[in-house]
Amino acid sequence: MQSFFRGPLTDGKLVVHRVLCVKMEIKLASVFLLACALTLLSAVHGKQRYENYGVYKVDITDPGQLTLLQGLESSPNGYTFLDYPSGVNSSVEVVIAPGDKNTVERLFKKHSIPSTLLTSNLQQILDKERPSRRKLEGFGWEDYYTLEEIYEWIDGMVAQYPSVLSVSTIGQTYEGRDMKVIKLSYKAGNVGIFIDANIHAREWITSATITWVLNELLTSEEPSVRFIAENYDWYIVPVANPDGFAYTHTTERLWRKTRTQHNLLCYGTDPNRNFNFQWNNGGTSTTPCSDTYSGTAPESEVEVSNLTTFIRSIAATVKLSLSIHSRGQYILFPFGYSNAPRAYNYQDLMQVGQRASVEIYKLYQKPYRVGTTADALYVASGISVDWAYAVGGIPLSYTYELRDQGEFGFILPAEQIVPNAEELLEGFVAMIDEARVLGYM
Ligand SMILES: [Zn+2]
Repeated sequence: MQSFFRGPLTDGKLVVHRVLCVKMEIKLASVFLLACALTLLSAVHGKQRYENYGVYKVDITDPGQLTLLQGLESSPNGYTFLDYPSGVNSSVEVVIAPGDKNTVERLFKKHSIPSTLLTSNLQQILDKERPSRRKLEGFGWEDYYTLEEIYEWIDGMVAQYPSVLSVSTIGQTYEGRDMKVIKLSYKAGNVGIFIDANIHAREWITSATITWVLNELLTSEEPSVRFIAENYDWYIVPVANPDGFAYTHTTERLWRKTRTQHNLLCYGTDPNRNFNFQWNNGGTSTTPCSDTYSGTAPESEVEVSNLTTFIRSIAATVKLSLSIHSRGQYILFPFGYSNAPRAYNYQDLMQVGQRASVEIYKLYQKPYRVGTTADALYVASGISVDWAYAVGGIPLSYTYELRDQGEFGFILPAEQIVPNAEELLEGFVAMIDEARVLGYM
């Protein structure tokens, strides 16, 4: 089936959309029409709200269910999958509009798909995400901030710490926004550490924690933090998908991808399935409306080619690469693609990751599971962590999946920014310490 679109449209496209919806009414189950109508409403009213939207946890127990769910994920039905249905014996969460709940529950029953209603009103969770009003003037970590606010804060920090901090632009996005990288360096000759955050637009906790960590690297008096700040060069891309991130603030909080337009109705490529290593070798979709659409070619997304061009320029000095995501509480390392061999330094990658997990747990007893992406989470290919390792030649390459394990998911209340950021910094200190023991840095 030709794919159409996910999520709200701009007003200019409403007419086309309505025609397609009517055609779908004739050809497809009537459930789609209602989904179309609801999506049209959200398009007219701007920012999507989720009153009485349900979130279901769905278990995939056989190949037929997997095929069915993959079809639903990439088709124009208005359902938002929070995970890609990547394999049997896994589970996904899916957001269902109130008018679709009965139909979907019947569908699950018909196909013997075990499902649990996690919340019956997603808007209530969204309402807990941000404080009712900001307590502080300016920037902080008791709320989430827009791209412009984050960039403004960075420029202010560079002005305050000009001998240590610099900021540069590694290119522009599809929609013309700057992609910024911060460099923190106390002395020449340091080994480098590369970090990207918020390459998935809806994972707001990632840019919030990484800006907190940057602030600590500059201001903390803790000896272990001073050591990692002053003896390594830090390259941080705090928002690696600025277009998608802006869209989550203005229009659709749960948007994941870039904002590349593929056709009249389909937007966005999953940038973390678009890297040029084992591209499309498991855990991706070739359907443009899917949330894990891998793009028309490796590095088809300008955001991804900007990142890889920059990483290549510093790779010779970088020994540790970190890609910050949410959610689920994992520390993942290469590889993620289908039937991948073990990395040559698998034992070291595991040891460094486990040391971080142990130290993180000591803070607030949050467990982080450690393993390869494919073993610990799911099969995924064309991902940054594998590219940085295999093509960039960076020997220690990890994905952090931050809090939580399901209660709030991507919509983590702002009061968890600081404790989650403390865990992330503790993880960095531990990783670097263990990597030094093993002779990497
Ligand atoms: Zn992610």
